[in-house]
Amino acid sequence: MEFIQKKTADHAIEYFLLKAAEEGISLVWDRFEGQLPECGFCETGLSCRDCLQGPCISHPFRDSNKLGVCGKDKDILASQTLLRLVIKGTVASLDQLSDFTKGVESNKIKLKNKGKTDQLLKESKNLFQNGGVAIKKEFAKSMVQRWEENGILPEGIARDIFKASQKLEGGIAGFEENLLWAFKVSILAGMAQKLQGSLKKSVFGNTSPTTMEVNLGILKKETPNLLLYGSLSPVLKQKIAEAAEKKKVNVAGVCTDPYLPPYHFSPVTNYVSQEIPLMTGAVDLIVAGDQFVNPSLSHLANHYETPIIPAGGLNGEKDLEKLAKEIVEQAKKSFDFRRKIPRDIPEVKESAVMAFSPEDLDLKKMTDGLNKGKIKGIAILSGSNNVKFTQDRELATIAQEFLKNDILCISEGEASISLAKYGFLNPSRNDIELGKGLSDLLRSLGKDLPSVLDLGSSKNGGITDFLLNLAKAGKKEPGNYPVLACFAEASRSTEVAEALWMVAMGIPTYFWPSLPVAGSAKTMEALSHLCQEKFGSKLHVLTDKKMEPRIKANLMIKDLTGERGPRLSGHPWK
Ligand code: SF4
Repeated sequence: MEFIQKKTADHAIEYFLLKAAEEGISLVWDRFEGQLPECGFCETGLSCRDCLQGPCISHPFRDSNKLGVCGKDKDILASQTLLRLVIKGTVASLDQLSDFTKGVESNKIKLKNKGKTDQLLKESKNLFQNGGVAIKKEFAKSMVQRWEENGILPEGIARDIFKASQKLEGGIAGFEENLLWAFKVSILAGMAQKLQGSLKKSVFGNTSPTTMEVNLGILKKETPNLLLYGSLSPVLKQKIAEAAEKKKVNVAGVCTDPYLPPYHFSPVTNYVSQEIPLMTGAVDLIVAGDQFVNPSLSHLANHYETPIIPAGGLNGEKDLEKLAKEIVEQAKKSFDFRRKIPRDIPEVKESAVMAFSPEDLDLKKMTDGLNKGKIKGIAILSGSNNVKFTQDRELATIAQEFLKNDILCISEGEASISLAKYGFLNPSRNDIELGKGLSDLLRSLGKDLPSVLDLGSSKNGGITDFLLNLAKAGKKEPGNYPVLACFAEASRSTEVAEALWMVAMGIPTYFWPSLPVAGSAKTMEALSHLCQEKFGSKLHVLTDKKMEPRIKANLMIKDLTGERGPRLSGHPWK
């Protein structure tokens, strides 16, 4: 490692790190250290194995532009590396929408609003066939027009994903065209998430802010604990929750949407520490999806005699109700079988109010607050964890700096779980420092609001709805307000697609760690200046690995308030 770094800011996790060291258990941090130094070529985006004439590399430091066997230069290699990631991340969002619509169409679930559900199912098919009809009307005309002028207005999931993936296969598209394809694909991801969120409301009913508890202390000693990991069909989750309630089984989640009315699945931990709940000895059964679930889970589960059921397999059970009942029965049996295993559950948990929807918030007061200078801006905090950073430290420090400086913080998904662990989502925590203007605004927005407002799982498009409603409330595009998005500890391809989606909506976006494009100065420049020209916002990709989170926060604040700080992005690899 180039520098010494704490593994986590979460004391509950720290306790298990010592235990793992004593027992010789290898965790994500050990595997990361085993990988160091990481492959420099891959970090720069200048490697390719798209065909069997390679793998090929270029050189990030030499002026001579070493070409791949087929002739790909540095700029093509880096821009295609980004495109590859965005396609992968977008397909993850589309897969979830597909799982959900399939579950709803099975007619095994009582719909809250049948008419609206039918409309949304039709619109999901439209998104597949022609890039959506009704959904396009929900965006400002100027935004849609901009996408159309740049050739990135979706024409249909199949067509767009097929065409974008063919850019990796060959042809003479330049690096700018590759980047625009990446943005086109990311718009599909944004639209799919927005549709998924609307479908969730029409199927299960409107969400309302809900108090739940977060962290390992929510595991039960005397009751079977069933954990849901990753993205699973909401229909399956509801069926599991129904069956578990009858059989008194505690169901909680890791990297899964925590809220599905009328049920919630309290988050036990977040992405990087997903192995740790098993080390409590108190996990009796896991149901695992694919996204956000690390393969290492099965090794550790084996060690603790915890069965894992995959949520979908080639020959998996198609009747979700039957599957849910079997899962809950197995959790009970496993609890009885595992009585001999000691349960070591730390008493660490924090209360959190989660799942606000834009309709719960007075957005006119927010735009007034911005116009009158009561608050300096709005920060959208997104993304999960990355083992390259001290777990949660970047996010929590950046949030604290923003709050002190009168910046309203909105969070989503895994970022919310990180922040919830440190009390940012707990209205009764009065040790979190807020600027005077922000404190007044939050008080005027409602009684007992937490310091940071969570808009639910990133897979439900809450941030998109928030930005669209903010634009309606203030009668101008969201990008015309001092709003930024920050992915402080990102790791997954879905987060890369979401970052591009934010930029396409006109929101300046800061992304850590550096994206694998830094080997191409032109691609770095384009993410800054081409994006500014096309969307009015930049994707800031920062290459300095040692920058402290407090400094990152202050640089973002300077950018947000229009002060000329040091140039943040557009630098080639350091
Ligand atoms: S596609 Fe081109 S650059 Fe990539 S591995 Fe094949 S020859 Fe090399």
